[in-house]
Amino acid sequence: MFIGHFAVALGAKKIVPTVSLGTLFLACQLADLIWPNLVLLGIETVEIEPGNTVMTPLDFVHYPYSHSLLATLLWSAILGGVYMSLTRSGRHVAIAVGAVVFSHWVLDFVTHRPDLPLTLSNEWRVGVGLWNSPIIGISLELLLFGLGVWLYARSTRALNRRGSIGFWALILFLLAAYAANLLGPPPPSPAAVAWTAQALWLVVAWGFWIDRHRTGAATRIAS
Ligand SMILES: [Zn+2]
Repeated sequence: MFIGHFAVALGAKKIVPTVSLGTLFLACQLADLIWPNLVLLGIETVEIEPGNTVMTPLDFVHYPYSHSLLATLLWSAILGGVYMSLTRSGRHVAIAVGAVVFSHWVLDFVTHRPDLPLTLSNEWRVGVGLWNSPIIGISLELLLFGLGVWLYARSTRALNRRGSIGFWALILFLLAAYAANLLGPPPPSPAAVAWTAQALWLVVAWGFWIDRHRTGAATRIAS
């Protein structure tokens, strides 16, 4: 799951309009932002095994700190708590930020084969495995993404050209990255996967930048 995670963040903007799109991107992809660093440190392991599922050649051998159910609950509480104390926003906003973090696990659960650990040990691993049904998997993810983009575009409006061009460029970039992932050759090494995944930080920064150039749809724009 890739663009499906961003769909949650885009849609969440309608529910918590005070939270920056950058924060929501950080939340929805927190697991995948932490993961490459743990892989590069040798704490978590990924292997490349073409044909492992129809849609990805990656075999997630060991990733309990970034992707287990238990760790995700902890990361959700941590990011929600840090956000609340830094911004002094209400509890419902912090819970929403935490829920966006948690949504990552739910969407990965639907798509991954049974490789998602429940606890920090690798014993109990779950996953519905939609990656083995590409038509359903891709349709679901595109539908979710379309819904997220629609909700975001309806509940915000651009303050200037940067806010509109910057936003639509990001949507095209995410779709292109998704297509490249699906259609491209398998990556050469686990380290290459991890370094490429660090590009997600740029998307988070892009989200913060876009948010500064857009406003809630109901807000009147001073001319
Ligand atoms: Zn993930």
